Amino acid sequence: MVPPMPVPTRIIVNGAAGRMGRRILALASERPTEFAIVAGVDRAPGTLRDLGVASDAPLVAQLPTERGAVVIDFSHHSAFYATALHCANQGQPLVSGTTGIEPAVLDSGLAAAAKAVAAMHAMNYSVGVNIVFQIAAQMAKTLGADYDIEIVEAHHNQKVDAPSGTAYGIADAITAATGRTRNDLVHGREGQTGKRRKGEIGMHAMRLGDVVGDHSVYFVGQGERILLGHVAHSRDIFAVGALRAAAWISGRGPGRYAMKDVLGL
Ligand code: NAD
Repeated sequence: MVPPMPVPTRIIVNGAAGRMGRRILALASERPTEFAIVAGVDRAPGTLRDLGVASDAPLVAQLPTERGAVVIDFSHHSAFYATALHCANQGQPLVSGTTGIEPAVLDSGLAAAAKAVAAMHAMNYSVGVNIVFQIAAQMAKTLGADYDIEIVEAHHNQKVDAPSGTAYGIADAITAATGRTRNDLVHGREGQTGKRRKGEIGMHAMRLGDVVGDHSVYFVGQGERILLGHVAHSRDIFAVGALRAAAWISGRGPGRYAMKDVLGL
Protein backbone atom coordinates (compact mmCIF):
# COMPACT_ATOMS: atom_id res chain seq x y z
CA MET A 1 0.00 0.00 0.00
CA VAL A 2 1.24 3.51 -0.83
CA PRO A 3 1.79 5.50 2.40
CA PRO A 4 -0.45 8.58 2.71
CA MET A 5 1.09 11.86 1.56
CA PRO A 6 2.11 13.99 4.58
CA VAL A 7 -0.11 17.05 5.03
CA PRO A 8 1.92 20.28 4.99
CA THR A 9 1.71 22.46 8.11
CA ARG A 10 -0.17 25.67 7.29
CA ILE A 11 1.69 28.70 8.64
CA ILE A 12 1.08 32.43 9.03
CA VAL A 13 4.19 34.50 9.85
CA ASN A 14 3.64 37.60 12.01
CA GLY A 15 6.49 40.10 11.51
CA ALA A 16 6.95 38.77 7.97
CA ALA A 17 9.08 41.67 6.72
CA GLY A 18 11.56 41.46 9.62
CA ARG A 19 14.92 39.67 9.59
CA MET A 20 13.47 36.55 11.24
CA GLY A 21 10.14 36.62 9.39
CA ARG A 22 11.84 36.71 5.99
CA ARG A 23 14.12 33.76 6.82
CA ILE A 24 11.25 31.68 8.22
CA LEU A 25 9.22 32.33 5.06
CA ALA A 26 12.19 31.69 2.74
CA LEU A 27 13.04 28.38 4.45
CA ALA A 28 9.37 27.31 4.51
CA SER A 29 9.00 28.11 0.79
CA GLU A 30 11.92 25.75 0.08
CA ARG A 31 10.06 22.88 1.83
CA PRO A 32 6.63 22.86 0.13
CA THR A 33 5.85 19.26 1.11
CA GLU A 34 6.21 20.22 4.78
CA PHE A 35 4.88 23.80 4.91
CA ALA A 36 2.08 25.68 3.19
CA ILE A 37 2.39 29.46 3.62
CA VAL A 38 -1.04 30.99 4.19
CA ALA A 39 0.11 34.61 4.59
CA GLY A 40 2.72 36.94 5.98
CA VAL A 41 1.64 39.74 8.32
CA ASP A 42 3.47 43.04 8.73
CA ARG A 43 2.74 46.73 8.83
CA ALA A 44 3.04 47.41 5.09
CA PRO A 45 0.92 44.99 3.03
CA GLY A 46 1.85 43.66 -0.43
CA THR A 47 3.01 40.25 -1.56
CA LEU A 48 5.60 37.88 -0.19
CA ARG A 49 7.44 38.23 -3.51
CA ASP A 50 8.10 41.85 -2.49
CA LEU A 51 10.13 40.35 0.37
CA GLY A 52 12.03 38.05 -1.97
CA VAL A 53 10.08 34.96 -0.86
CA ALA A 54 9.13 32.47 -3.60
CA SER A 55 5.43 32.29 -2.68
CA ASP A 56 2.18 33.73 -4.05
CA ALA A 57 0.72 34.08 -0.56
CA PRO A 58 -0.31 37.60 0.45
CA LEU A 59 1.42 39.99 2.82
CA VAL A 60 -1.36 41.51 4.91
CA ALA A 61 -1.63 44.07 7.71
CA GLN A 62 -3.92 42.04 10.03
CA LEU A 63 -3.66 38.44 11.19
CA PRO A 64 -5.97 36.46 8.91
CA THR A 65 -8.49 33.95 10.22
CA GLU A 66 -7.62 30.44 9.07
CA ARG A 67 -8.61 27.79 11.57
CA GLY A 68 -5.76 25.38 12.38
CA ALA A 69 -3.02 27.42 10.66
CA VAL A 70 -0.06 27.96 13.03
CA VAL A 71 0.83 31.60 13.74
CA ILE A 72 4.63 31.95 13.94
CA ASP A 73 5.21 35.26 15.70
CA PHE A 74 8.57 37.08 15.47
CA SER A 75 7.31 40.65 15.54
CA HIS A 76 7.19 43.23 18.34
CA HIS A 77 6.43 42.83 22.03
CA SER A 78 3.60 45.37 21.82
CA ALA A 79 1.70 43.03 19.45
CA PHE A 80 1.97 39.89 21.58
CA TYR A 81 -1.20 40.02 23.67
CA ALA A 82 -3.49 40.78 20.71
CA THR A 83 -1.79 38.00 18.73
CA ALA A 84 -2.36 35.51 21.55
CA LEU A 85 -6.05 36.48 21.83
CA HIS A 86 -6.51 36.22 18.06
CA CYS A 87 -5.04 32.70 18.15
CA ALA A 88 -7.38 31.69 21.00
CA ASN A 89 -10.48 33.16 19.35
CA GLN A 90 -9.78 31.82 15.87
CA GLY A 91 -8.45 28.35 16.76
CA GLN A 92 -4.91 28.97 15.51
CA PRO A 93 -1.92 27.43 17.36
CA LEU A 94 0.79 29.91 18.40
CA VAL A 95 4.60 29.65 18.17
CA SER A 96 6.06 32.93 19.43
CA GLY A 97 9.71 33.96 19.61
CA THR A 98 9.19 37.68 20.15
CA THR A 99 11.34 38.99 22.99
CA GLY A 100 10.99 41.97 25.31
CA ILE A 101 7.45 41.04 26.38
CA GLU A 102 6.66 42.03 30.01
CA PRO A 103 6.67 38.75 32.01
CA ALA A 104 3.10 39.36 33.27
CA VAL A 105 1.82 40.06 29.73
CA LEU A 106 3.62 37.00 28.38
CA ASP A 107 2.15 34.82 31.09
CA SER A 108 -1.42 36.06 30.77
CA GLY A 109 -1.34 36.01 26.94
CA LEU A 110 -0.01 32.46 26.86
CA ALA A 111 -2.52 31.34 29.51
CA ALA A 112 -5.42 32.83 27.51
CA ALA A 113 -4.20 31.21 24.27
CA ALA A 114 -3.48 27.84 25.91
CA LYS A 115 -7.10 27.47 27.09
CA ALA A 116 -8.21 27.26 23.47
CA VAL A 117 -5.20 26.21 21.37
CA ALA A 118 -1.69 24.76 21.55
CA ALA A 119 0.62 27.67 22.37
CA MET A 120 4.30 28.18 23.09
CA HIS A 121 6.85 30.92 23.55
CA ALA A 122 10.63 30.41 23.58
CA MET A 123 13.40 32.94 24.09
CA ASN A 124 15.62 30.84 21.85
CA TYR A 125 14.38 28.50 19.10
CA SER A 126 17.78 27.03 18.23
CA VAL A 127 17.61 23.25 18.57
CA GLY A 128 21.32 23.14 19.50
CA VAL A 129 21.00 25.82 22.18
CA ASN A 130 18.02 24.06 23.75
CA ILE A 131 20.07 20.87 23.95
CA VAL A 132 22.91 22.88 25.58
CA PHE A 133 20.42 24.17 28.21
CA GLN A 134 19.44 20.59 29.00
CA ILE A 135 22.95 19.13 29.06
CA ALA A 136 24.43 22.03 31.07
CA ALA A 137 21.77 21.50 33.74
CA GLN A 138 22.40 17.77 33.82
CA MET A 139 26.20 18.21 33.99
CA ALA A 140 26.01 20.75 36.82
CA LYS A 141 23.73 18.47 38.82
CA THR A 142 25.79 15.34 38.27
CA LEU A 143 29.23 16.94 38.73
CA GLY A 144 28.14 18.53 42.01
CA ALA A 145 29.28 21.52 44.04
CA ASP A 146 33.02 20.79 43.78
CA TYR A 147 33.09 21.79 40.11
CA ASP A 148 33.44 25.51 39.36
CA ILE A 149 31.20 26.75 36.55
CA GLU A 150 31.86 29.76 34.31
CA ILE A 151 29.87 30.84 31.25
CA VAL A 152 31.64 32.76 28.47
CA GLU A 153 29.81 34.27 25.51
CA ALA A 154 30.99 36.17 22.41
CA HIS A 155 28.87 38.33 20.08
CA HIS A 156 29.40 40.93 17.35
CA ASN A 157 30.47 44.45 18.25
CA GLN A 158 27.02 45.94 17.52
CA LYS A 159 25.26 44.11 20.35
CA VAL A 160 24.08 46.59 22.98
CA ASP A 161 23.33 44.33 25.97
CA ALA A 162 25.36 41.85 28.00
CA PRO A 163 25.39 39.07 28.90
CA SER A 164 23.28 37.55 26.14
CA GLY A 165 19.80 36.15 26.74
CA THR A 166 21.20 32.74 25.82
CA ALA A 167 23.95 33.02 28.47
CA TYR A 168 21.21 33.81 30.99
CA GLY A 169 19.25 30.84 29.64
CA ILE A 170 22.19 28.53 30.34
CA ALA A 171 22.68 30.07 33.80
CA ASP A 172 18.97 29.73 34.60
CA ALA A 173 18.98 26.07 33.54
CA ILE A 174 21.98 25.41 35.82
CA THR A 175 20.63 27.36 38.81
CA ALA A 176 17.23 25.65 38.56
CA ALA A 177 18.88 22.22 38.47
CA THR A 178 21.20 22.90 41.41
CA GLY A 179 19.12 24.97 43.83
CA ARG A 180 20.92 28.22 43.05
CA THR A 181 19.47 31.59 41.94
CA ARG A 182 20.55 34.53 39.78
CA ASN A 183 22.10 35.96 42.97
CA ASP A 184 24.83 33.35 42.51
CA LEU A 185 25.90 34.87 39.17
CA VAL A 186 29.11 36.96 39.20
CA HIS A 187 29.51 39.25 36.19
CA GLY A 188 33.15 39.71 35.20
CA ARG A 189 35.78 40.14 37.87
CA GLU A 190 37.97 43.09 38.64
CA GLY A 191 40.25 44.26 41.44
CA GLN A 192 40.37 42.73 44.90
CA THR A 193 37.63 40.18 44.38
CA GLY A 194 38.78 37.75 47.04
CA LYS A 195 38.86 34.02 46.44
CA ARG A 196 36.23 32.40 44.30
CA ARG A 197 33.16 31.58 46.38
CA LYS A 198 31.99 27.98 46.09
CA GLY A 199 28.79 27.81 44.09
CA GLU A 200 29.14 31.10 42.25
CA ILE A 201 28.76 31.07 38.47
CA GLY A 202 31.01 33.43 36.52
CA MET A 203 29.47 35.25 33.53
CA HIS A 204 31.74 36.79 30.89
CA ALA A 205 30.94 38.65 27.66
CA MET A 206 33.28 39.31 24.73
CA ARG A 207 32.32 41.68 21.87
CA LEU A 208 34.19 40.87 18.68
CA GLY A 209 33.75 41.83 15.01
CA ASP A 210 30.94 39.90 13.31
CA VAL A 211 30.60 36.93 15.69
CA VAL A 212 27.00 35.62 15.40
CA GLY A 213 26.94 34.00 18.84
CA ASP A 214 29.32 31.70 20.76
CA HIS A 215 28.59 30.21 24.18
CA SER A 216 30.97 28.12 26.28
CA VAL A 217 30.33 26.58 29.67
CA TYR A 218 33.38 25.54 31.70
CA PHE A 219 33.06 22.91 34.39
CA VAL A 220 36.36 22.61 36.25
CA GLY A 221 37.04 20.22 39.11
CA GLN A 222 40.12 18.72 40.78
CA GLY A 223 42.31 17.60 37.88
CA GLU A 224 39.87 17.97 34.99
CA ARG A 225 38.07 20.47 32.81
CA ILE A 226 34.94 19.80 30.76
CA LEU A 227 33.94 22.30 28.13
CA LEU A 228 30.44 22.48 26.63
CA GLY A 229 30.10 24.80 23.65
CA HIS A 230 27.73 26.10 21.00
CA VAL A 231 28.66 28.20 17.98
CA ALA A 232 25.96 29.84 15.86
CA HIS A 233 26.92 30.25 12.20
CA SER A 234 23.76 32.11 11.24
CA ARG A 235 20.39 33.33 12.54
CA ASP A 236 18.80 30.54 10.50
CA ILE A 237 19.15 28.30 13.59
CA PHE A 238 16.18 30.19 15.10
CA ALA A 239 14.10 30.01 11.91
CA VAL A 240 14.73 26.28 11.49
CA GLY A 241 13.79 25.65 15.13
CA ALA A 242 10.63 27.76 14.89
CA LEU A 243 9.52 25.81 11.81
CA ARG A 244 10.22 22.55 13.64
CA ALA A 245 8.11 23.82 16.55
CA ALA A 246 5.29 24.84 14.16
CA ALA A 247 5.23 21.38 12.55
CA TRP A 248 5.20 19.75 16.00
CA ILE A 249 2.48 21.94 17.51
CA SER A 250 0.14 21.72 14.52
CA GLY A 251 -2.89 19.59 15.37
CA ARG A 252 -2.01 19.33 19.09
CA GLY A 253 -4.63 19.90 21.75
CA PRO A 254 -4.89 23.11 23.77
CA GLY A 255 -2.10 23.71 26.27
CA ARG A 256 1.14 25.46 26.93
CA TYR A 257 4.21 23.84 25.42
CA ALA A 258 7.96 24.48 25.38
CA MET A 259 10.93 23.65 23.15
CA LYS A 260 11.81 20.75 25.44
CA ASP A 261 8.44 19.21 24.50
CA VAL A 262 9.12 19.77 20.80
CA LEU A 263 12.55 18.15 21.11
CA GLY A 264 11.44 15.37 23.50
CA LEU A 265 14.04 16.43 26.10
P1 NAD B 1 12.93 42.99 13.00
O1 NAD B 1 12.85 44.34 13.62
O2 NAD B 1 13.87 42.78 11.84
O3 NAD B 1 11.48 42.54 12.52
C1 NAD B 1 10.29 42.73 13.24
C2 NAD B 1 9.17 42.90 12.23
O4 NAD B 1 7.93 42.94 12.95
C3 NAD B 1 9.26 44.21 11.41
O5 NAD B 1 9.15 43.93 10.03
C4 NAD B 1 8.07 45.03 11.91
O6 NAD B 1 7.49 45.85 10.90
C5 NAD B 1 7.11 43.93 12.33
N1 NAD B 1 6.07 44.36 13.26
C6 NAD B 1 6.15 45.29 14.24
N2 NAD B 1 4.97 45.43 14.86
C7 NAD B 1 4.12 44.55 14.26
C8 NAD B 1 2.76 44.22 14.46
N3 NAD B 1 2.02 44.83 15.40
N4 NAD B 1 2.21 43.25 13.67
C9 NAD B 1 2.95 42.64 12.72
N5 NAD B 1 4.25 42.93 12.47
C10 NAD B 1 4.82 43.86 13.25
O7 NAD B 1 13.28 41.98 14.19
P2 NAD B 1 13.81 40.48 14.09
O8 NAD B 1 15.29 40.45 14.21
O9 NAD B 1 13.15 39.80 12.94
O10 NAD B 1 13.24 39.90 15.46
C11 NAD B 1 11.86 39.90 15.72
C12 NAD B 1 11.61 39.46 17.16
O11 NAD B 1 12.08 38.12 17.34
C13 NAD B 1 12.39 40.29 18.20
O12 NAD B 1 11.61 40.39 19.36
C14 NAD B 1 13.64 39.45 18.44
O13 NAD B 1 14.26 39.71 19.67
C15 NAD B 1 13.04 38.08 18.39
N6 NAD B 1 13.98 36.97 18.13
C16 NAD B 1 13.73 35.83 18.82
C17 NAD B 1 14.51 34.71 18.59
C18 NAD B 1 14.19 33.44 19.34
O14 NAD B 1 14.80 32.42 19.07
N7 NAD B 1 13.20 33.47 20.23
C19 NAD B 1 15.54 34.76 17.67
C20 NAD B 1 15.76 35.94 16.96
C21 NAD B 1 14.95 37.05 17.20
